[in-house]
Amino acid sequence: MAGKHNGKSTFLRWEHHESPGRLSGQQRKGQHMSAPAPSPSTPAATRIVIAGAGPAAQALVTQLDQGRFTGTITVLSNRDDTPAELLELALLPQVSVRFGQPASHIDAAKRTVATADGMEFSYDQLVIATGSAPVANPVEGAGSCLSYSTIDDAARISRAVGEVTRELGRRPLGILVGNGAAAGQAEAVLRARGVRPIRTTARPAAIVPGTSASGLVASAVIFEDGSSMSGDLVVLAEERVSRDGLAASAGLRTAASGGIVISQDFRTSVPGIWAIGDAAAFDGVRLGLLVAAASAAGACATQLLSASAPGPVLQAAA
Ligand SMILES: Cc1cc2nc3c(=O)[nH]c(=O)nc-3n(C[C@H](O)[C@H](O)[C@H](O)COP(=O)(O)OP(=O)(O)OC[C@H]3O[C@@H](n4cnc5c(N)ncnc54)[C@H](O)[C@@H]3O)c2cc1C
Repeated sequence: MAGKHNGKSTFLRWEHHESPGRLSGQQRKGQHMSAPAPSPSTPAATRIVIAGAGPAAQALVTQLDQGRFTGTITVLSNRDDTPAELLELALLPQVSVRFGQPASHIDAAKRTVATADGMEFSYDQLVIATGSAPVANPVEGAGSCLSYSTIDDAARISRAVGEVTRELGRRPLGILVGNGAAAGQAEAVLRARGVRPIRTTARPAAIVPGTSASGLVASAVIFEDGSSMSGDLVVLAEERVSRDGLAASAGLRTAASGGIVISQDFRTSVPGIWAIGDAAAFDGVRLGLLVAAASAAGACATQLLSASAPGPVLQAAA
């Protein structure tokens, strides 16, 4: 099955030479394979590389597939896990997904992307979809508390709250750390699950592991001055910023408040490189919403499809 694998450098793709969108062929895992043959109507197969594999990247691959893109798409994911959505995309004939392969260097002149493991991918068009990351380093002991740092965490928190509530036999008291939009959302999630949240905007120095039988959640935080707050569970919901370091190191313009500067059509300041999703900032603003990532992916796919067709070259972002 197209499922779990542990190697750092593995990738999945199906070898297949029919029209895009159908799932068949023999799956190969953990080895290099040649690119699919271009369709006879395509003069030279355009190579698109996508750095990042979150919702924006996934939406882009889907849109390109629906637009009958006939070149090759390589998706670089810095994560070792293989979510179902990505595995499904990896089944598309023109797509290869490299799991555990963070894009670490862009050579815009040579049009190549290197990964942390030293692999190099040539591209005609590169899309940066590296998303966002927490602003600050993790608090000591953060591994023992609940975290609201990706959209999937709401479901994880709900499950953990259910277990703690059953264990306590009463409504839990939750310490919620954070002062931005994510903390507001986390508070709504906790309230909806019956937790009484107490919010602190001060960043703790450490999280104290809980003593609950399930061992699920931390129950206290300690601040720099030695003071502490305790409850039945702790949730960290800290602010995030665009992950724009890869782009900045390649000389792409970035916004003062973070984010790769893009024009209205998702071009960056460097020709052949585009940015979508949480990594990008238009007019200094990062939208930071799934719906925004999805519509950016749709519009960028349209641009890429026309850029891969013969025609005049359009301008990069100013
Ligand atoms: C706590 C939280 C709650 C949210 N709730 C909502 C909501 O209710 N509704 C809504 O519309 N939006 C919500 N959002 C926003 C939404 O999740 C984001 O807008 C969306 O995930 C952006 O997708 P993305 O692909 O741009 O970035 P990300 O989701 O950050 O994905 C980027 C991916 O790229 C990978 N990556 C990073 N660097 C590299 C690299 N160098 N090489 C390879 N891979 C790399 C990352 O590991 C990650 O998998 C929420 C976000 C958070 C954090």
